[in-house]
This record gives sequence, structure tokens and C-alpha cells, in this order.
Amino acid sequence: SLTTKLDSIFSQLRGRGKLSESNIKDAMREIRLALLEADVNFQVVKDFVERVREQSMGQEVMRSLTPGQQVVKIVRDELGALMGGEHRPLSIATRPPTTILLMGLQGSGKTTAAAKLARTFKDTGHRPMLVAADVYRPAAIDQLRTLGASLDIPVYAQDDSQDVAGICAQARETARSGNHNILIIDTAGRLQINDELMQELRDVKTVAPPHHSLLVVDAMTGQEAVKVAQAFDEEVGIDATILTKLDGDARGGAALSIRAVVGKPIQYIGVGEKLDALEPFHPDRMASRILGMGDVLSLIEKAEQTIDEETAAELEQKLRKASFTLEDFQDQLKQIKKLGSLDSIISMIPGLKKANLPSVDDSELKRVEAIISSMTLEERRNHLIINGSRRKRIARGSGTEVGDVNRLIKQFTQTQKMMKSMMGGQKKGKGKGKGR
Ligand code: GDP
Ligand code: MG
Repeated sequence: SLTTKLDSIFSQLRGRGKLSESNIKDAMREIRLALLEADVNFQVVKDFVERVREQSMGQEVMRSLTPGQQVVKIVRDELGALMGGEHRPLSIATRPPTTILLMGLQGSGKTTAAAKLARTFKDTGHRPMLVAADVYRPAAIDQLRTLGASLDIPVYAQDDSQDVAGICAQARETARSGNHNILIIDTAGRLQINDELMQELRDVKTVAPPHHSLLVVDAMTGQEAVKVAQAFDEEVGIDATILTKLDGDARGGAALSIRAVVGKPIQYIGVGEKLDALEPFHPDRMASRILGMGDVLSLIEKAEQTIDEETAAELEQKLRKASFTLEDFQDQLKQIKKLGSLDSIISMIPGLKKANLPSVDDSELKRVEAIISSMTLEERRNHLIINGSRRKRIARGSGTEVGDVNRLIKQFTQTQKMMKSMMGGQKKGKGKGKGR
């Protein structure tokens, strides 16, 4: 990792206490490489490294940090500062509906983001309405309708019109009369930036002036994202961006570059296809991600809020040994829920492979807890003994159906299996695995 590299560079420095021009030269090279590797725009990297160099020079090394850590801290703080302050929720207009225009290239994640945003607003007590302004493909309207239906949020659409601006104007009236205070417009994309698209968006902005013009960009596109953001900002005007697909391998360099080059903040990040996978943007976390420190910091912060370190370590141990029983499952369920999905925890532990573990939702969680509580201790420790008659008893005791019990045991077995395969590479060399 960057910290280890920097530590070795600085190992001669120990006891000398000050960062100087000559001893930070190599460190700056490592930082430059790390940023370029994270797909940060070249010019941005150049300016940035210069700033860090100036900041670092002459700094006293803090007693609690190694020089390498000290530089990483400076880099991280500077990166965080460059990417803007803490997240602020989108403001609500005094005169409804608060209109949010989503734009971006095809496949960037607009429609998904529209639904995710609508969900967030609904969850906080608002009455959102979605507008299908991607009129060129019938499938696009259907996609938004399906998402809207799944969230029980109305979707305004006109199946036979291609007058996008007209549709948006109508939608506003409909929202107003239907008492919907948030209007989220999902527009068409193109594979590339094109004049027709830009004109269409300008027209929408004229007839239904948005309070927030948000550009949706795919983080996986790296450098390209900067050009896209620049073009949309110049031609249509954007207020902020939503950076999607950060659940993939993207290191997040686009976040820094867009902020630095276009000067527009990142409002939200998309971290999955599911509709709950939208998170407020945290500059400090993105900084850590760009520097390749995994999301260790996020994990630490989240863990501090919700569970004590010991419990986390225990969970990690169990995961690593794959000696995870239904009893542990029960213990951990609540905490897993607080941390998000099991999958999101695993993705935060460095060195572990990503897996698509089932996430746990609220009602499901209650049912699962009820079922496990109705098991005997013996059953919890060894699910293999849970035969047909035991399943019936457990279902009766927990007020569920045998099918629910079956499903839980099946899910649990799958999870256990997945953990085993994920941890496969990790166990080697430790020599302490059971039965070896
Ligand atoms: P649009 O053409 O801009 O409307 O893009 P869509 O919303 O239809 O999304 C295109 C694809 O990207 C779909 O398969 C989405 O499920 C997927 N997608 C959108 N946002 C995310 C995200 O944050 N993470 C992941 N992994 N996939 C996403
Ligand atoms: Mg779409």
C-alpha cells in the first residue's frame, strides 16, 4: 500500500523529525503514481502533488505517526479539501415541486439514480414523482415505470409524445395539482455528447427550470468522465454530479478530477444496482479510496459508531475461519444490519474478494431472528441436525411457515459455502485451520 511504500522511503528519516525537500522527493513520486493509477487527470495530479509538497516541507512529524503516515495524512486531508466540504442534502424549494433534472450519457445510470433519489425522498417524508423524459425508446419508459411501481412512486409519462420539454412542463402541472413536492426528471442519454441532446436539455431547462441539475457519470469511465462533465457543464450547465458504479473496481479518480477541473461537487455516489445503493458523498472516504487504502477508514468509522472493535474482530475471525454457525449468525445479524449488507462489510476488509452475498432487509431480518430464536442451542450450533420434524416445530414456535425455515437454512448454507470459497486463499499459510 501507499503507506508501506512511504514508510520504507522514510525509514532513514526516523528520529530526524522533519520533512524536507530531499526526503520527500521520492514520496511525491509514489503519490503521483498512486493518483495516476486511480485514474486522476494528469494536470490535476501535477497541481496536487505540488501543493502537497509545499504543505509537507518543513513539517514536524507528529509523535504518533511515522513520516510515511504523516505524508499520507497530509495527502488525504488535501484530497478531502479539494473534493469539497461535507455532503449537504439537496435543498427543497419554497415553491413546490422541487425539480431535479438528471442528465448524462446512455448507460451512466440516470434511470436507476432517478429511482434511488425518489426512494430517498420518499423515505424522508416527501412525495416525489418521476418523469419519463427519455421518449425515444419505449423500453426506457417501461423501465422507469417498473422502478416507480416497485417503490410505489408515481411516474409521469406520455406514451405517444416526443416533445420532451412539453412533457416536463405537463409533469410539473400534474405534480402541483397532485400535491407532489419533488419532481425528478429522467432524460434520454446518447452514446456520445451530441448537439441534439444538449439542445433538448436546454429546452427542458427553459420550460421546467430545475432547482438542481445533476449530471450522472459512470465512475468506471475514469478520465472520460471529466470530458463529459466539462461538456455538459458548458453546454447545459450542471450544479453537481452523481457518480455511479463505485461498487466496481473504479478507484474514484474521476471524483477528484471532475471536482478539480469542472469545479462542481459530487452530490451522491451509486454503489450498486439495487435501489438502496445510493450514498451521500464523503470526500474523506473518497480520498482514502483514491489512495488505495480500501475503505478501511469507512469501516473503522462505521464500526466505531455501531459496534466495538472486539466484536468486529471476532466477526472477522469467524468469517476467516468460516466457522460461522447459525448462533453466530443470530448474534451478528443486528450488527450486520447496522453496517449495511454483509457484502458491504466484506468489501471493506482489505484483501477479501467481493461476493454477492444476500443483503438483509428489515422484515426479513425480523423473521430470521424469530426463526433462529425458536431453535435449540444444539440446532443453532449444528444446523445439519435440523430435520423435517424439527423444522415443523421451529416454524410453529416462530410463527412462520416451514418454507421460511427451509429458505433460511438454505440461505445460511449458501452463505457459509460462499465464505468458505472466499476465505480459501486466506487460510493458507496460517496452519491453524480446523482438522488439518
Ligand atoms: P441510463 O441509461 O443512464 O438511464 O442508465 P440505467 O439507469 O438504465 O443504468 C444502466 C445500467 O447500469 C443498469 O444495468 C443499472 O443497473 C446499472 N447501474 C446503475 N447504477 C449503478 C451502480 O451504482 N452500480 C452498479 N453496479 N450498476 C449500476
Ligand atoms: Mg435511462
